[in-house]
Amino acid sequence: MRNCFIALCLFSLWGTPVHAASPSSVHGALDAWDVVAAKRHAKRLKAADDANGAVALALGRLALMEGRYQEAVTLLTKAKVNSKDARAAHYLGLARNTWTETEKYRDYRTSGGHFLVRYPPGPEALILPYVDDVLERTFDALTKVFGHTPPTPIRVEIYPEPEVLAAVSPLTVTEIKTSGTIALCKYNRLMAVSPRALVYGYGWADTLAHEFIHLLISQKSGNRVPIWLHEGLARYYQERWRSDTQPKLARASEHLMAQAIADKELISFEAMSPSMAKLPSQDATALAFAEVFSAIEFMAKKGGDDVPRQLVTLMGTGLSDREAVSKVSGLSWSRFEASWKSFIRSQGYRLQRDGYRERMLFRGENSEGEELALLKERETRQYTWLGDQLRVKQRHRAAAKEYAKASKVSKGASPIVQAKLGYALLAIGKPSEAQKAMEKVASVYPSYVLLQLYLGRAYAMSGAFELARKHLEYGIYLNPFDPEIHGLLAQVYQELGENKLAERERKVHKELQRL
Ligand SMILES: [Zn+2]
Repeated sequence: MRNCFIALCLFSLWGTPVHAASPSSVHGALDAWDVVAAKRHAKRLKAADDANGAVALALGRLALMEGRYQEAVTLLTKAKVNSKDARAAHYLGLARNTWTETEKYRDYRTSGGHFLVRYPPGPEALILPYVDDVLERTFDALTKVFGHTPPTPIRVEIYPEPEVLAAVSPLTVTEIKTSGTIALCKYNRLMAVSPRALVYGYGWADTLAHEFIHLLISQKSGNRVPIWLHEGLARYYQERWRSDTQPKLARASEHLMAQAIADKELISFEAMSPSMAKLPSQDATALAFAEVFSAIEFMAKKGGDDVPRQLVTLMGTGLSDREAVSKVSGLSWSRFEASWKSFIRSQGYRLQRDGYRERMLFRGENSEGEELALLKERETRQYTWLGDQLRVKQRHRAAAKEYAKASKVSKGASPIVQAKLGYALLAIGKPSEAQKAMEKVASVYPSYVLLQLYLGRAYAMSGAFELARKHLEYGIYLNPFDPEIHGLLAQVYQELGENKLAERERKVHKELQRL
């Protein structure tokens, strides 16, 4: 193994020793996500003529990785003219697109100084305080878990719509929308689509944490960790910034696992490469994530918090994923696979008869009305539809009755129905009944934002302001562009004597209403 490691270290793709200052030494360092080393090599290269195509390519690629897009375009244009290397055209296209898209973006340095957030002028500025808080908490928590502190500031780019993410990454718009891959860690930065692009937002806060974990893993391992382990670790630890408890597989994922186990249709770890976003549907992607989550869960249950650090360190020294997993789990690879399979079979994953599966609804092409189609039982759908008709006419008492029927048919298990029921109950002044209607389903589907909003409202109405705060703050981690959440939170903070926060929320509320 050691020989293999040394060979990898000394030679880059072209067999040139990376210790000498050469264009390939820059590429070698960038391939390993080591921008600090790449810069060191580049410094010595700069004396060389950048009319030399290979030099211009290396320097241009480095500029792109450091976010100096305009400079990258200039260098890579020279590279394309003066070199036959196919990567020149590839990186030039990327640099051009990225420069065009982000030319007018603004910069924001987070309070702890660890991140540089780039965002388009406009409404995204309103969510910077929340992004700041989430990123800094993520930095504190996850650098400890993985035992790696990246060079800072780390660049984070927020795009107004999926089309921009597609323009600056290898993903296509269709892939983004079918797989629901809405954020990415690539080219030495974190990239995410603004939650404003979706009808109900999305779990942007956990998503940023997830992408940050990818950055840690890529850097610490020298980019040697395969997709399935990358995603498993990122998925399993993405909530660590806000909670120390062991994460549990989401209810909808349980369903997919139960189904795949019964149908013998588990996706193999190998099939998850080169990217989860390339799987054929949001369901296939969700199943793959559930599988890799459970694989890390399986290891973490035995090895605890040493698992992520050990796995990544071992692969950084040149061990393969199978060797590293064997070492950490104490099982041979085939024993590990078999034990993992019996572990998932023993988890008692439950199928859902009328299970709700989260879909990303994109603004401009999906509407709130489409949610109704997600209710699979005809009767549930019909009562809900009736309730909606009454709600539009402000007949909330009658609407509540219809929603209650839908709730009965769906056994109180649909977040869509329970949120509508909760809303109607609040409209007729019954906050404690609304709480009862929503609490249980909200613990199963915490990322269904309307449940957080209405529960926040219900608790605020009954004077339980700390509980209201908890739900509304969670609501912001999902849909920070919902003006109502901010309006309510302003009142709740005021009641709790948090005057500064109340003032901030009032301001955001006002601004959002103007949009
Ligand atoms: Zn990921």
